[in-house]
Amino acid sequence: MIKFTIITLFQEALEPYLKTSMMWKAVDKGLAEFDFVNLREFGLGPHRSVDDTPYGGGDGMLMRCEPVFNAIESVKAKDPDVKVIIPTPAGETWDQKMAQKLAETGTDKNAHYIIFCPHYEGYDERILSICDYKVSLGKYVLTGGELPALIIIDSVVRLIPGVLGGEQSAAIESFSDGDNIEYPQYTKPYDFRGMTVPDILLSGNHGEIKKWREEHSKKAK
Ligand code: SAM
Repeated sequence: MIKFTIITLFQEALEPYLKTSMMWKAVDKGLAEFDFVNLREFGLGPHRSVDDTPYGGGDGMLMRCEPVFNAIESVKAKDPDVKVIIPTPAGETWDQKMAQKLAETGTDKNAHYIIFCPHYEGYDERILSICDYKVSLGKYVLTGGELPALIIIDSVVRLIPGVLGGEQSAAIESFSDGDNIEYPQYTKPYDFRGMTVPDILLSGNHGEIKKWREEHSKKAK
């Protein structure tokens, strides 16, 4: 079982996705658990402030250390083994191998991860000292850590055995073997606007179909 505790100011942005499709099924089957910590509850002063202006000047606001450390430490107080993930453009680029590594920690045993979702112009650099994994989603800038959190969770949870329908699904799909991209797939109708399905897939010859699929798998660019 894998558990994700998400520290965010925007729980409402995450909840609908986690209650849908495979994520919901994973929870229903007892293979995953999601919970939220509202960072605002750890905010400072009467306005429960969580951000402030950057030293040295510049645009925007940064998330302050105190609320973030206090929120993370409130989870650690209940589970000292919990690991902390921060989405950041400065992190290691997230890929299938990293998703597999995390999924393995929640396969046949219990694993617990916090994902802290920064927002605004980012976070005080000292927050990195309490994070175990720094993860980039790629070379573009998002508004906050919420979308990265969903991508990390989705890509990990679907790899926990029992979450997907067919046990082979995750083992043979794109990136399961490094840079492979899955072979082309077709469903009905056979002929759609003159585009037909390769006849080999209708042949019933499993050996030839396997060969065709191997030949038509690609390497990622
Ligand atoms: N000022 C920051 C910079 O120039 O790198 C961008 C801050 S961004 C608006 C707010 C937060 O969104 C980031 O601190 C990070 O947590 C998250 N974020 C944005 N893009 C990301 C990416 N490509 N990968 C991971 N997290 C990202």
